[in-house]
Amino acid sequence: AAESCISKQRSYKALNAFINLSDKHAVLRQAEHADTDTIAARPLHGRLIGIKDNICTSDLPTTSASGILKNFTSPYDATVVKILRHAGAIVAGKTNMDEFGMGSHSVHSYFGPVAFARDQKNEASQEQLSAGGSSGGSAVAVATGQCWAALGTDTGGSVRLPAAYTGIVGFKPSYGLVSRWGVIAYANSLDTVGVLAQDATIAQEIFDEINEYDDKDPTSLPKSTRARISETSVQRSDRVSALRIGVPLEYNIHELQPDIRRAWSHLLRRLRENGHSIQPVSLPTTKQALSAYYVLAPAEASSNLAKYDGVRYGSRASGPDGADGVLFSKTRGEGFGDEVKRRILLGAYTLSAGAIDNYFIQAQKVRRLVQEDFDRTFSLPNPLKENEVSSQCQNSGVDVLLSPSAPTRPPLLKSLEDQSPLDAYMNDVFTVPASLAGLPAVSVPIKVVDHIAPFGFQIIGQYGDDSLVLQVAQLLE
Ligand code: GLN
Repeated sequence: AAESCISKQRSYKALNAFINLSDKHAVLRQAEHADTDTIAARPLHGRLIGIKDNICTSDLPTTSASGILKNFTSPYDATVVKILRHAGAIVAGKTNMDEFGMGSHSVHSYFGPVAFARDQKNEASQEQLSAGGSSGGSAVAVATGQCWAALGTDTGGSVRLPAAYTGIVGFKPSYGLVSRWGVIAYANSLDTVGVLAQDATIAQEIFDEINEYDDKDPTSLPKSTRARISETSVQRSDRVSALRIGVPLEYNIHELQPDIRRAWSHLLRRLRENGHSIQPVSLPTTKQALSAYYVLAPAEASSNLAKYDGVRYGSRASGPDGADGVLFSKTRGEGFGDEVKRRILLGAYTLSAGAIDNYFIQAQKVRRLVQEDFDRTFSLPNPLKENEVSSQCQNSGVDVLLSPSAPTRPPLLKSLEDQSPLDAYMNDVFTVPASLAGLPAVSVPIKVVDHIAPFGFQIIGQYGDDSLVLQVAQLLE
């Protein structure tokens, strides 16, 4: 299997899925060792896993696809990487992405854009498509067999959107279940490590390993809450045979491509025929969610990225060091790409004294309303709000929500050149709400009608209901 991945890494080099590959000989040696090592039945033994380049590894650079970190190598492995290695996995390499995770098409990379082509055997003769972003490199690496599976990060859809565009599974767990220690922050209150894989069973296998409390991550969900969640999910494990599936009415937007809308209703009909019940539900704050996200994420980013000043990390502009701040601005001016600069400016503005009430505070209120929309919809109470009166199990609620993962199929890479930043932000309209609420969500490629190429559909569950979300994904694929 390792040989086959390595040969595909060679044949698909032009798609630019990796920023740095692990040394081929070292990978083969580890794989060989895994083959002969009969004592250790470690779950991910000898499996090649791609790691998004904003997740730290001690043996390869971690650049976050930014000029400012182009020469940075972390002295340690992120907790997730440590866990995977311990489970027997081999790091295939570091995957390309939008700089610091900011983007939806993996084109904002210091190392050049990621590309994708639907008929991979024949990609040279075809128009190249967007791989989705920001974890586009991870998605393409998995879709083309350059690794068995990959880690990505999802702040507002960056695992689910690339999965939908490349025809694979992309799973974003509940916020706080997977450690963020050693993961370069974009917007910490939203950043979630996720898994890209060929199918939901593989995603589950990897999630089972990395779903672990980490005392190095202050936002890691405490063990007591984890225990409570798994108790509930054992009690309710029979749900998958007759699901109550919610269809969010507000997701049926004008911008939704007609063939995706048709596929969505076909899929719902099929599920109803198989004994599941379909319920229309209303998530009224959906419309404001996207705007709130694009206030909150840049605000957190502007604060997180302040540390790249040319002194403590990464690259530094040439010229004298002084107290006048020139070194800082020169380093940052040269090191960051345009999209990152746009977000820093946006964030600095919405946090400024004159604007904070109108933007940041309003967006936080919208975030709360989005969370309440979801809590009203699900039959399970939100385990993070255990003490609230509203947390009784609602018999009328649904088990999961089902929608397309994105409003359109992947656009041509070429067409993105004349797209405004606002058009790009629009792609995240279905993925952002679950991010704001910290909910588990997975994008699954579904071929609903024979003559139409598969498209990604998203399953969203209540906080902590990750195993149900993955079970439903297995049911649908
Ligand atoms: N496209 C969104 C953004 O640019 C989501 C990115 C992500 O999830 N990292 O913020």
